[in-house]
Amino acid sequence: MDDVQALLDGRVFRPPAGIVLRRGDFGLGLYVTRRFAAGEILYTSDWFTVPDDDRTLHACVDVDGCLEDMKITRRHSVRSLGARMLDIPGCFMNHSCEPTSCSMDVVGEVDDEPTRYHQVALVDLEPGDQITCDYLLFDWDCDGHRFTCACGSERCHGEIHGFGSLPREVQEQLSNDITWDVRRQWESTRLAADRPA
Ligand SMILES: [Zn+2]
Repeated sequence: MDDVQALLDGRVFRPPAGIVLRRGDFGLGLYVTRRFAAGEILYTSDWFTVPDDDRTLHACVDVDGCLEDMKITRRHSVRSLGARMLDIPGCFMNHSCEPTSCSMDVVGEVDDEPTRYHQVALVDLEPGDQITCDYLLFDWDCDGHRFTCACGSERCHGEIHGFGSLPREVQEQLSNDITWDVRRQWESTRLAADRPA
């Protein structure tokens, strides 16, 4: 476990070109500093895999041009296969039920299991616009960061408790946009539900 912190200690995490991490109305968030067109890749990132425990990690992160020691906790990660995945500074992106971006898995050449993703703009973004994403599309149980959403969208889900807690018909509606990891968990749940008792 110390290896994870040692890995973080050796690095400074800066947002990709054209993007800044900044404090706004909803705490820290990612914002664009140049124009991005709908469909454009905002950035591509790897995931870290960390143990599924309550330990607080620290990372040196560029926040609006100043280096800060940021705490990385459960709420910044996605639980999967007995571990947790996160990336920095993507883990500081805020949720919206009508998001301005989405994650698209990059499937490896050897293995079907993706280890990186593209963050793609869903709308045209002008300098100063916030990059948001829908947590429900990549987080099965939102363990560590369940909350009541205040995004104000007509499509707001209200309580954000992960894709797994959504009604089946809503899951079906969103199913084209979910990540590999959520699809894997969804399919295993459906298999278990369909199995005769
Ligand atoms: Zn909402």
